[in-house]
Amino acid sequence: MTTLHTMGQQHSRRSWAEPYKIKVVEPLRTTTREERDRAIAEAGWNTFLLHSRDVYIDLLTDSGTSAMSDRQWAGMMLGDEAYAGSVNFYRLEETVQKYYGYKHLVPTHQGRGAENLLSQAAITPGDHVPGNMYFTTTRFHQEKAGATFHDVIIDEAHDTASLHPFKGNIDLDKLQALIDEVGADKIPYVCMAATVNMAGGQPISMENARAVRELTDRHGIKVYLDATRAVENAYFIIEREAGYADKPLAEVLAEFCSYSDGATMSGKKDHLVNIGGWFATNDDELFEEVRNLVVVYEGLHTYGGMAGRDMEAMAIGVEESLDMPYMRSRIGQIQYLGELLERWDIPFVKPVGGHAIFLDARAFYPHLDQEQFPAQTLAANLYADSGIRSMERGIVSAGRDPETGEHRHPKLELTRLTIPRRVYTQAHLDLVAESVKACFDAHDSATGLRLVYEPKYLRFFQARFEPLP
Ligand SMILES: *Cc1c(COP(=O)(O)O)cnc(C)c1O
Repeated sequence: MTTLHTMGQQHSRRSWAEPYKIKVVEPLRTTTREERDRAIAEAGWNTFLLHSRDVYIDLLTDSGTSAMSDRQWAGMMLGDEAYAGSVNFYRLEETVQKYYGYKHLVPTHQGRGAENLLSQAAITPGDHVPGNMYFTTTRFHQEKAGATFHDVIIDEAHDTASLHPFKGNIDLDKLQALIDEVGADKIPYVCMAATVNMAGGQPISMENARAVRELTDRHGIKVYLDATRAVENAYFIIEREAGYADKPLAEVLAEFCSYSDGATMSGKKDHLVNIGGWFATNDDELFEEVRNLVVVYEGLHTYGGMAGRDMEAMAIGVEESLDMPYMRSRIGQIQYLGELLERWDIPFVKPVGGHAIFLDARAFYPHLDQEQFPAQTLAANLYADSGIRSMERGIVSAGRDPETGEHRHPKLELTRLTIPRRVYTQAHLDLVAESVKACFDAHDSATGLRLVYEPKYLRFFQARFEPLP
């Protein structure tokens, strides 16, 4: 395992450049400070409620915001829009089997569709599902199906200053303790996310995935991978873990997936498409159940809520995501932004993860209490400064405890700058860094927010706030 120091040396530094050139452009609209102040007020200080027309550089999410390639667009014309048995479904099935190695595939409209199906089919009320930190929709579906979620990620994941190279790892002692406490028969599966979105896009090591497989095998517990960014995870294994430096992405991905029984997938991330997802499993019985459920929630089992053309673009995207020059520039863009911020001593989660920079809002605004929503405040201030849209990943995203109704108080209070794939240039990232710096320099003037409207489910999407005096 390399330290961060030696990782830096590996990188010193023949510049990479984006391995593509621009064929179609989408003009960006700029706004004045007055327009932005008005827009963020109308949006209830929630960046999810802004109109994208008022946004200059959109770093809300990397979900469904990728630029497709000319090959993918050409593939759209090959859409076979038959209700049943579309050519594109078989092409996608074959591609996922080939690279991810699972036996059965069920397409879904996006990742949460797959999470819903897995949770409903595998969870019995009263069960317990351990995971390496929660993801919003994943945990929601597990809880809705009657399970209790348990965070079994290593402690370093909750420490923004820890330089552990694999902060997504599962803590085997925590997992063993849960098995001892509730019994293996109450744990339908371990939910293993690679990379871990909520921890800052942090990867899991191959060694850890293998160890989780060994431990769960001893107890007859299944492992389901949240494979949303598993290719990005494979890149980090190549970059940081001994023995993988010369291996192709596809080989690392296949080994990684081999330690799980199946996966849920949001194609809107790694697969470089604007919509789509899938569920996959090696378990014949569970497959039968999920293939039956999919027709109720998503669509027939050969389209699952996607058009034929979308399945074609996704199959092409799977192969493009496994191209090493592409992935180096993908992660390289985020590392570049991290280096700019580091130079100015801006507090953010290190080491830099796979899809975003996570600003440490507690360190930005040490004078604000967590219940004054520091990360939400930072996202609003960044937008007002420059029209850059980020999002909150802190107390608002964590929601309320379903038992007590109180706010959950996550250790991490972060504002996420998420980089869409193949969309922005280095010059855009320079601008982002400069705006973050301006907000950091003005941190004394931040007063925090008050929650004025709170929806019942996944509140961060639609909640509204007002500035505190
Ligand atoms: C986006 C995401 C999901 C949910 O996928 P959708 O396509 O948005 O429904 C699940 N897990 C992780 C880690 C994600 O990033």
